[in-house]
Amino acid sequence: KRLGWAVVGLGEFALGQVLPALREAKYSRLTALVSGDPAKARRVADQHGVDPKNIYSYDNFDSIRDNPDIDVVYIVLPNGLHAEYSVRASRAGKHVMTEKPMATSPEECEQMIQAARAANRKLMVAYRAQFEPRHVEVARLTRTRAFGNPRAITAEFVQNQGDPAQWRLDRNLAGGGSLPDIGLYPLNFSRFVLGEEPSAVMAHISSPPNDPRFREVEDRVAFTLHFPSGVIAHCLSGYSAHRSSRFRIMSERGWASLDPAFAYERNRLTVGRRVGQQEGIEERQVEDKSQFVLEIDHLSQAILENKPVKTPGEEGLRDHVLMRAIYRSAEEGRRITLS
Ligand code: NAD
Repeated sequence: KRLGWAVVGLGEFALGQVLPALREAKYSRLTALVSGDPAKARRVADQHGVDPKNIYSYDNFDSIRDNPDIDVVYIVLPNGLHAEYSVRASRAGKHVMTEKPMATSPEECEQMIQAARAANRKLMVAYRAQFEPRHVEVARLTRTRAFGNPRAITAEFVQNQGDPAQWRLDRNLAGGGSLPDIGLYPLNFSRFVLGEEPSAVMAHISSPPNDPRFREVEDRVAFTLHFPSGVIAHCLSGYSAHRSSRFRIMSERGWASLDPAFAYERNRLTVGRRVGQQEGIEERQVEDKSQFVLEIDHLSQAILENKPVKTPGEEGLRDHVLMRAIYRSAEEGRRITLS
């Protein structure tokens, strides 16, 4: 059985990644669209075989309640709208997948979790990296201690943002700058790989003065996560340099490295360790399955089999609590300890 999915927001990511993934999925299929642009919605419905009666606007969105073709609502709107639509979808009795970052504050995350719980429906945050096969392999190598105990992580995700008028540079719609948008990948993936929660954070922020892109949100964030095991993760995000995404975990007897780490496809995994008397560096071939298809079908399967999801609302909440501590550390110029 394939569950019916409604996609809310038909922007670049929804059209470029989410809709194609829903076509490929085994347990999920696109059955409805929610958009503020009726002509675009008609066109997309036509392309993807969606019944025109299943096109909704933001105003009549709550009437999805009466539509049995919709099991899951996938929210692909600007970050500042995730909480509102997630809560409305839960109240309409639907399961929810929300894009990352989950929301713009821990308080919004709590509201979303509460609404899903009250409706007895699932809530999942689209942390695609946790489904990417190479990423899963790095987590497996780390958690099985294949190269001994992990000691340190370096991770980064930076890219250029062009248009100063886009929502990603608007504080209310984005919730912050590079940190919640792409710094979230080093943050979430470090926690995932180690299977451990940071006990303290420290951070520095730097934005070019007089750059119209950074009037409301920050550019670069350098942050360190301290884990109870002693591992230090040194992370970086930024919005004013050419795209670069890398992840490396260094353990006692070897390292695993992803470069690129957070691309949509063709990430590359290399490992380095001593082989006999020599240092060996080897590229690991891992089958390139779509992280988007895996993530979408994960939620459908969890619903069909009534199992917990790997990246529930609580996972998003944890990152938002950590991001707030990261901002506070930079602002106050000190290490912030987490309980
Ligand atoms: P986008 O600007 O291309 O699309 C956003 C859509 O929301 C547009 O269709 C826009 O019309 C609509 N919208 C509705 N109300 C709006 C409002 N008040 N202001 C602005 N737009 C409004 O953005 P995107 O890149 O598709 O990002 C959408 C979401 O997907 C974000 O949460 C983003 O973080 C996430 N995303 C995730 C990934 C990933 O790899 N998982 C990649 C890109 C984006």
